[in-house]
Amino acid sequence: MPPQSVDFANEVEEILTAPETERLLRELATRQDGMDGDPRALYRHLGDAGILAPSWPVEYGGRGADFTATVALLEKLVAHRIPQNLYCISVQNVGSLILAAGSEQQRRTLLPALASTELTSCILFTEPGNGSDLAGITTTAVRDGTGWVLNGRKTYNLKSAYADIALIAVRTDPQSSQYEGLTLFLVPLDAPGVVIRPIPSLADEQFHDIWFTDVRVDESALFGQVGEGWSLITQMFAAERTGLDYYARGRHWLDLVAQRVDRNGARQSDAVRTELARHEARITASKLLSCQVMQNLQDGSPDIAESSFAKWHCSESAQRIAWWALDTLGQDLLEPGPDPGDRTLEAAFREAPGMTISGGASEVMLDILSSARVFTHAPRED
Ligand SMILES: Cc1cc2nc3c(=O)[nH]c(=O)nc-3n(C[C@H](O)[C@H](O)[C@H](O)COP(=O)(O)OP(=O)(O)OC[C@H]3O[C@@H](n4cnc5c(N)ncnc54)[C@H](O)[C@@H]3O)c2cc1C
Repeated sequence: MPPQSVDFANEVEEILTAPETERLLRELATRQDGMDGDPRALYRHLGDAGILAPSWPVEYGGRGADFTATVALLEKLVAHRIPQNLYCISVQNVGSLILAAGSEQQRRTLLPALASTELTSCILFTEPGNGSDLAGITTTAVRDGTGWVLNGRKTYNLKSAYADIALIAVRTDPQSSQYEGLTLFLVPLDAPGVVIRPIPSLADEQFHDIWFTDVRVDESALFGQVGEGWSLITQMFAAERTGLDYYARGRHWLDLVAQRVDRNGARQSDAVRTELARHEARITASKLLSCQVMQNLQDGSPDIAESSFAKWHCSESAQRIAWWALDTLGQDLLEPGPDPGDRTLEAAFREAPGMTISGGASEVMLDILSSARVFTHAPRED
């Protein structure tokens, strides 16, 4: 890691251990809103410190740092139990797409607000019948005078109740091919006609169902060109599927298991030490794959196959750690960790199943990888 990123990591550590951060974190844990906990006050505190978009250019609210600063940030956020999903969706996914493909006007107005989390965004791609294959999207946007009218339903999205805007994929041309007829919009979620309902989840963070009924937006809500949705979605997937936040969670969970097996004496067992080493090797490989993808992105050469491989590896590694934690710690998993109120490993066990589905299911990641790398390089039979 370059010295600037080491300095940045130290700065982040200082902010995350400051009394005000810890107070906001404790407040969040009470879930006073009765839902899955509104992280925005905590995020605003971190956003005010200017640490949430280190790799973005300074003029858009970043620090102009290289990707290793983002790696350090994610590792620290997860290790300090800062909920990372709204942050990753809003800043790392939506923000990074705006940085790469937005108009200059969108960059100047939206990016500083996203970096400070004064503005937050969710992603609305999945529909009841369309998850892995978004080519079947049925939510529509129809031109109406100077604007557009949206109708349809999106489901299984995270953090939408705490988002101000949504990056939504809709069908604007039912006549053209399934992929050509898609368009992206950035839609305010307080627009008349938007209804958001929570869906309970096994994990701590609930999903949402969102209905759009005659929702009117003006032309400025359009993201990219009409009909350009599929290529923008593919571009976003290459950047979203770095696997970084999956790796960071797996890394933290493995550290917690290692501490527990030291405390309860299980580390004396050869089998436990062997598994610890196996998971350590695997999660280290996850980090390297994730860094490779981020290096490619930084160099301006995103590769959807490498991203898919990194996402698959990082999510599978983290999931195995969460499940191995239960096998190894058993009932002990339900006991609080050294930090009062820490029940991270128990929550990890419930979060783990979704990791290999969210952001692209494992089978689909392997399908993309094999299509791009294996079959194109396979020797011809004839
Ligand atoms: C924790 C979590 C967070 C999420 N957050 C969001 C969000 O913020 N916004 C959003 O829009 N969506 C979100 N989703 C939805 C997610 O993107 C979809 O669940 C995912 O894309 C899979 O789609 P599906 O559920 O329709 O399953 P399907 O696409 O129906 O897949 C079902 C099964 O079939 C397999 N499969 C599908 N196609 C193939 C293929 N070609 N080859 C082999 N196997 C295949 C899949 O791997 C899976 O095992 C989230 C999901 C989870 C679990």
